[in-house]
Amino acid sequence: YQAKQRGNGFAFYRAEMNRHALKILELENDLRHALERRELLLHYQPKVELARGRIIGCEALLRWQHPQRGLVSPADFIPLAEETGLIVPIGAWALLEACNQAMQWQQQGLPAIGMAVNLSSRQFRSGDLPTAVAAALRHSALPASRLELELTESMVMDDPAGAVQTMQQLKGCGLQLSLDDFGTGYSSLNYLRHFPVDCLKIDASFIRDVDRDPSAAAVVTSIIDIAQNLGLTTIAEGVETHAQLTFLRRCQCDALQGYLYSRPLPAADFAQLLARPPALAHLAART
Ligand code: C2E
Ligand code: MG
Ligand code: MG
Ligand code: MG
Repeated sequence: YQAKQRGNGFAFYRAEMNRHALKILELENDLRHALERRELLLHYQPKVELARGRIIGCEALLRWQHPQRGLVSPADFIPLAEETGLIVPIGAWALLEACNQAMQWQQQGLPAIGMAVNLSSRQFRSGDLPTAVAAALRHSALPASRLELELTESMVMDDPAGAVQTMQQLKGCGLQLSLDDFGTGYSSLNYLRHFPVDCLKIDASFIRDVDRDPSAAAVVTSIIDIAQNLGLTTIAEGVETHAQLTFLRRCQCDALQGYLYSRPLPAADFAQLLARPPALAHLAART
């Protein structure tokens, strides 16, 4: 009886597995065509300077407008894109699209802000990243100084020496580099010293508890301290509350990104925000 039950359990498990595998296969097949079917798009989230409340740039965030599933978030397809290698053409598209968009806003008379694009580890290690970046800059005519590439610690710590080389090549184009989700990886401070990065993006998980948990607050102030000592700027990710904003002001964080100021927006909505930016001072005054 027991064996039979186990057998049935296994059959059930197999059916579940198959269903799951099939769904992934379907998604993978759809993703293969997403680019050519123009189903991928970028949303843009402002980066706001704390001192003067100006929008200094934005981060391009990938979205997939799936015909049946609706708007699919990157968490649900980037790992798949990474596994299949599709992230390389998708990443190249995102890079060019973001650069073009930044120039388009400028041509509409909007402020010339920075444009940040996320890289995946596969893209970072692909060897021809500097070429792809140079091509995107050339085709869009975006000044390199306005392009920022966001890397993660884990991406660079796999092969720190090789990563430093790639980073130096990228820096050679004249662009900005930042370390995304900073504090969640395992980058050693010794390497940080050698990375040619400009900015640390303090991970949202520390920001979330910053006004309630002394240890989160200590991590954030320490990151800001180290950054200042190394001559790097800091930006806080995932800022949602006035209390968090107040804390960040007090410890002299340079900039913030988060729902408190704005969610990531479609290009047209972002243009409107850029044309009439809400005042950060006003947000702070409501604390
Ligand atoms: P990330 O680069 O750390 O981006 C920040 C994420 O936090 C975004 O999620 C953003 O929508 C979200 N966020 C911003 N402010 C807040 C807030 O106040 N509260 C909360 N709860 N969330 C906030 P999203 O757009 O879902 O992207 C998730 C991740 O997917 C990104 O994390 C990035 O690692 C990856 N990703 C997005 N676009 C691209 C891309 O073009 N290429 C690559 N390789 N990865 C991308
Ligand atoms: Mg990012
Ligand atoms: Mg992040
Ligand atoms: Mg993240």
